[in-house]
Amino acid sequence: MTQLQRAREGTVTDAMERVAEREQVDPDFVRQQVADGQAVIPANVEHDRLDPMVIGREFATKVNANIGNSDEAGGVEAELEKLHAAVHYGADTVMDLSTGGELDRVRETNVEHSPVPVGTVPVYEAVKRAESVEDITTDLLLEVIEKQAAQGVDYMTVHAGVLAEHLPLTDGRKTGIVSRGGSILAQWMEENGTQNPLYAAFEAICEIFAEYDVTFSLGDGLRPGCLADAGDDAQFAELETLGELTRTAWDHGVQVMVEGPGHVPMDQISGQVERQQEVCDGAPFYVLGPLVTDVAPGYDHITSAIGATEAARAGAAMLCYVTPKEHLGLPDAEDVREGLAAYRIAAHAADVADGREGARDWDDALSEARYDFDWERQFELALDPERARSYHDQTLPGDNYKEARFCSMCGVEFCSMRIDRDARDADGEMTELETGTSAADESAAEVNRPPVGTHETDGDPSLADVDLGREYPSADD
Ligand code: SF4
Repeated sequence: MTQLQRAREGTVTDAMERVAEREQVDPDFVRQQVADGQAVIPANVEHDRLDPMVIGREFATKVNANIGNSDEAGGVEAELEKLHAAVHYGADTVMDLSTGGELDRVRETNVEHSPVPVGTVPVYEAVKRAESVEDITTDLLLEVIEKQAAQGVDYMTVHAGVLAEHLPLTDGRKTGIVSRGGSILAQWMEENGTQNPLYAAFEAICEIFAEYDVTFSLGDGLRPGCLADAGDDAQFAELETLGELTRTAWDHGVQVMVEGPGHVPMDQISGQVERQQEVCDGAPFYVLGPLVTDVAPGYDHITSAIGATEAARAGAAMLCYVTPKEHLGLPDAEDVREGLAAYRIAAHAADVADGREGARDWDDALSEARYDFDWERQFELALDPERARSYHDQTLPGDNYKEARFCSMCGVEFCSMRIDRDARDADGEMTELETGTSAADESAAEVNRPPVGTHETDGDPSLADVDLGREYPSADD
């Protein structure tokens, strides 16, 4: 039985217990959310190494990292390195989007080593096996899906919502159909003159998914590929079909999340999320970005993280990261790191803004360490500890600077937090001005003079010569 079926019959599974522990909520709350289709626990029964996690708007916002090779780049070792980078830098799930090389070996190795759910897009393998798009058959699609399910894949993107009648709605778009799966299925329908085989065979796919407890990630094959195409008739026609497919999957006891765009102007994002939640009866929304501008290739981890934050605030449950290489090339392990940092920031910012229980504790702990000049604690709490330490040590590498009451940003004289702390009394409070005293009566030089000793470097202004043990007396001493 799937997590959904067991949740419906009132059973709290081991996976739900584990998820509740990780989210610090009541296990029965997890069960209820799964039973209602408002959350999913992607956990293929064949994925032995999995540490279960939950995706749903009532839980912490999650981040997915896409990895995978192409015919042009990548291999088993490189993909394993990317998987490790993704998990190390905080991915909640990974998608193996390999389209070339040893597809089976890469996928099996990823599942074998991954403690997080692994997702795939099975139509990619079907294309490789058929050798041309028009030669893909329904039997081949089902065979590939069943094999990947048996390999332990936890969720699969299935572009079953792209229907033949939607395709003319993409005429006149600036960038046509940009989803890989969407473009493949559109070409197949144009060549074969019949309906999308994934739609036609959807119930058969549900049966395979139910057997292994694979979660649907209903693909948005007609997502907009630029701001100009956002929110058009093609996108919303497909969304209606995704709503219908969501209910069909639920009828089969299969868990569902729904994928979303793409490229969307900032002012349309919250409306798009709300529309998906309504059309798909609250099934978790898994969004790619969206990118809020098209003009920054090389920085699309930033353009998209801005949109992802807005989407998460509006109710998206999982954010699919975008790396700086988007639109330009296959990401390597360093790009995975950059993309994940951007997206973990987006997810956390949304959780803080939403008042998610405990989310801001992390910020408060880091801020306290910062105000205490506890550098080691700051590094430890940083979203990317290695990056934080290395940036600090670029200019002040010595161990003695781990106790310094400044860093090289403002320098010893202008460190505002050090100045602030010195200005306060032992209780950490500022003195109230006595009645009749006016700062205007004092000379500016007196009022603003730096703390005693900050200029005393014996003619050598290098920071290395500053005596870190020096007390900074208050200006009154
Ligand atoms: S020098 Fe500036 S940036 Fe560095 S700790 Fe002080 S206030 Fe913060």
